[in-house]
This record gives sequence, C-alpha cells and structure tokens, in this order.
Amino acid sequence: MLYGIIEAGGTKFICGVADENQIIERISIETTTPQKTMPDVIAFFKKFDIVSLAIGCFGPIDIRKNSPTYGYILQTPKIAWQQYNFLGEMQTHFDIPMFWETDVNVAAFGEFVLGAAKDAKSCLYLTIGTGVGGGYCANGAFLPTLLHPEMGHIHLKRLDGDSFEGSCPFHDDCVEGLVSGPAIEKRAGKKAEEIPEDDIIWEMVARYIAQALQTYTMVVSPEKIILGGGVMKREHLYPLVRKYFLEYINGYIDFEALGVTMDTYIIAPQMPDYSATYGCVELAKRLVK
Ligand code: ADP
Ligand code: ZN
Repeated sequence: MLYGIIEAGGTKFICGVADENQIIERISIETTTPQKTMPDVIAFFKKFDIVSLAIGCFGPIDIRKNSPTYGYILQTPKIAWQQYNFLGEMQTHFDIPMFWETDVNVAAFGEFVLGAAKDAKSCLYLTIGTGVGGGYCANGAFLPTLLHPEMGHIHLKRLDGDSFEGSCPFHDDCVEGLVSGPAIEKRAGKKAEEIPEDDIIWEMVARYIAQALQTYTMVVSPEKIILGGGVMKREHLYPLVRKYFLEYINGYIDFEALGVTMDTYIIAPQMPDYSATYGCVELAKRLVK
C-alpha cells in the first residue's frame, strides 16, 4: 500500500509517498499561492495510488472536526492562504482518509514514534526557523486543544537593555519576534547564518529560548524537549540554552533526582528534516489500520 504525506510549510511544501518500509518519492514545491502551489501538489499525488494522506500544515489551522471550517488555514500572515480550505481541496481530488494537523505536532509525533523521544512518554518539539512553533505529543496522541498550541507567541521577559523592537506584528516580545531567523537577521542586520559563533547575539538568543523552555517545562513538564529548525543548526546553541535554562529554573526542579541530565532533556531532533515526514507516514498508515 502507498501512503501520502504533505508537510506544508511557509516556504515549501514537502510532498511524499511511502510504502510499508520506506519513502519512495519526496519532492519540494515552493509555497506561493494556493492557485499556483496546489495544482503541483495534486499532480504529484495523482501519479500514485495512495490509500491515505496525512497533512502537517503551518498554522494557525482549524483542527476542530465538527467546525464548518475544519481543514481550513486561518488568519495566517501569508495572506494568499488565509481562510483557504486546504483539506477540502485535497478531498475533492482524493476520496481517501486524511489526517489534518499542525506541522509541529506531526514533527513531535515523528520524533515520539521513531526518533529522539521514542523511549519517552511525552515530548515537546519546538522549531526555530522562519517562525517559531511548538508541538506536543503524549502517549502517541495530541492534546485535545481548542485551537492548537501556539508556543512561539508566549511573552518573554526582556533582557536588561534590550530595546530591539522584535519582528512579530502581533507582539512586542514573543519568542518568534525575538529568536526566529528573521528576528535575528533584523537585530543583527545580516543573515543568521552569517553571524559568527562568538557574537554576543547568540547569548541573547540562547537566554530567550531558555526562558521559553522554562515556561513550557513548568506548564506541561514534557519528558523531552526537542529543538529543531534552521536556527538550531547552530549547534553551539544547545549547551548555551541548557546552561541558561538551569539558571532560570534556579533549583526549583531537581532534575538530578528525576534522573534527567540536560543533554538528554534539551536535545536535537534525531531525524532532522524528516521528523514531520516520518510523523506523517506513521499517521497515514494508522488511518487505514
Ligand atoms: P522554515 O522555518 O521555513 O521551515 P527553516 O527551519 O530552515 O525553514 O528556517 C529558516 C530560518 O532559519 C531562516 O530565517 C534562516 O536564516 C535560519 N537559518 C537557517 N540555517 C541557519 C544557520 N546555519 N544558522 C542560523 N540561522 C539559520
Ligand atoms: Zn508573536
């Protein structure tokens, strides 16, 4: 049997087809407008006889099954995609079971089932890239939420002397506005990729990420926190984030007593670039089993 997957991101759509054992084809399509992107997506899947499809989409999206706009993309800053009936469009072309979730939830699921959290009962997956988004998976299921988590938009406490205006149009000092790739670029005046490792900016970035992780830990206490996305390709950030995280926790949680070390708690994805793909493959398989 063949299973379809779509990772719909703000810059590209990854479409793929897997059989029982492996991914047999995976392509990238640029995210422009529904009128331009979707025909290519549909044409790709028409080549295969897929039995189910799992979609992980950038948010915000409507995941309430009884809602009249279930399957829609909601008020995204990507104007062309606002109120777009993504799932409905796929269903007019393919009469098969479909799974509809956020991109970060399916990434959390992928790491939970097959990756860095496969021995844990719960994991939180945070991507720090063009935006910042978080997914959460516990016992192989997602939280029964009203909308879905929007972990990139919690407020952070400003570091002393930091007057950077941020990059989120909605909030002055949310995680996305302070540490996403575009936020770092706006602050530094150059691409995040080009900023040297010893630049002081990484200390600030690590402190802000650590603050966010402290909040997530206090709220949902995941067994693992997985940090992915383009910005986290800078591996020197992991030890910095762990250090400042412990500083913010300030002894309140005794991780040692819980048998947890920071280098097993705040970790990289085990399947970078494939967390969501494998998450979707597994979800697509479950639709027909
Ligand atoms: P997306 O969020 O669109 O799915 P990514 O997770 O790759 O894609 O994130 C892209 C962002 O990550 C860009 O803003 C880019 O500047 C930043 N980025 C990518 N690679 C690096 C790197 N090596 N160092 C720092 N920032 C990076
Ligand atoms: Zn925000």
